[in-house]
Amino acid sequence: MSLSVRDLQQIIRDTYDSKDRRRGVEGTFMWFMEEVGELSAALRNGTDAERAAEFADVLAWLATLANIAGIDLDAAVRAKYGGGCPGCRQTPCVCDQAAKP
Ligand SMILES: [Zn+2]
Repeated sequence: MSLSVRDLQQIIRDTYDSKDRRRGVEGTFMWFMEEVGELSAALRNGTDAERAAEFADVLAWLATLANIAGIDLDAAVRAKYGGGCPGCRQTPCVCDQAAKP
């Protein structure tokens, strides 16, 4: 089964929207950052399964933030990255490595 960014955002909305709206952007951002920290730990010391689960959590919390902030993630990603690198507009990127290594 393929899952688009739009599908993910809808799944998160269907599953958690009322809780997410009650928590708000600030509280949700704290949870998001906690999950980013857990991903960091899993990348250093976790098993493949633990890393995969933390990637899923970070993406889910990012989708939650987008939902309550009123951002269409699919449209945002397409607009920014759909035409290649936002800096040089090439795929693969040919930007100077010194600018963003
Ligand atoms: Zn580039």
